[in-house]
Amino acid sequence: MLSIKDLNTYYGNIHALKGINMEIEQGEIVSLIGSNGAGKTTTLGSIAGLIPARSGSVIFKGQDITNVPAHNLVKLGISLSPEGREVFPALSVQENLRLGAYIKTDKAKIKESFERVYDLFPRLRERINQSAGTLSGGEQQMLAIGRALMCEPELLLLDEPSLGLAPNLVLMIFELIESINKKHGTTILLIEQNANMALSISHRAYVLETGRISMFGKACDLANDPRVKKAYLGQM
Ligand code: ATP
Repeated sequence: MLSIKDLNTYYGNIHALKGINMEIEQGEIVSLIGSNGAGKTTTLGSIAGLIPARSGSVIFKGQDITNVPAHNLVKLGISLSPEGREVFPALSVQENLRLGAYIKTDKAKIKESFERVYDLFPRLRERINQSAGTLSGGEQQMLAIGRALMCEPELLLLDEPSLGLAPNLVLMIFELIESINKKHGTTILLIEQNANMALSISHRAYVLETGRISMFGKACDLANDPRVKKAYLGQM
C-alpha cells in the first residue's frame, strides 16, 4: 500500500533521513521505533508532505505522493494524527471532530463518521460539548486520533500517541489503536518511543537509528531480538 524508497531529508545541512526504505501492506499495523532524535517524526513528516524530502520517493497505492502537501493526502485516503495532541483548545469535542471531516459535504456521511468515532471512544461522546482544552491528556489524544479518523482514512499515520500519558492510559490508547485496525481494517503506521507497547500490537516494525533503518522484521521477532531488548525494551 505504501512504499518508501531511498528517502533523504535535510534540515539545512543536517542530513536527518539517510536513505529510508519501508513497505507497508494493506491491513497492517507497522511501527517505527527509535530513540530521541533518531528521525521518527521527520520520517512521518516526509511521508505526510509536511517536511520536504530532498530525494527518494513515497508511493501510495501506485501513486507517487512524494512531497504532496498533507491537506491533499486526505482526499487520497491518508490521515495524520500529530504528536503533542494538537487539538483546538477553545473548540468543543464535536467541533474538533467536525474539522477532521472537512473534505466531506454529505451530512449523512458525516453523521456516520461521528458515530463511528463515538463508538470507538465513548469517553468523547460523554464530553461532546466540552472544550478540548479542558480534556485530560488521554482524552485529548483520543480526540486527535478521532479527528484523524473522521475522514475515514485507509492509512492512518500516528505520531507518538502515548507521549506524556499515564501508564493506564497508554495501555488504553494502544488497545484502541489495535481495535481501529481490527474493526475497520485501517492500515496504521505508528511512530513510537514506547517500543514495548508498539511491538505488542504491531504486525511488523522498523528500527530507526540516526536517520537509518538498522533493523526490520516481524514485531514478535524484533521483540525477542537481544539488540532490541537491550536498546529499546530496557531488558538485558
Ligand atoms: P523525538 O522522539 O525526540 O521527536 P525523533 O526520532 O522523532 O525524535 P526527529 O524529531 O525526526 O527525531 O529529529 C531527527 C533529527 O533531526 C534530530 O537530530 C533533530 O535534532 C533534527 N531536527 C528535527 N527537527 C529539526 C529542525 N526543525 N531543524 C533542525 N534540525 C531538526
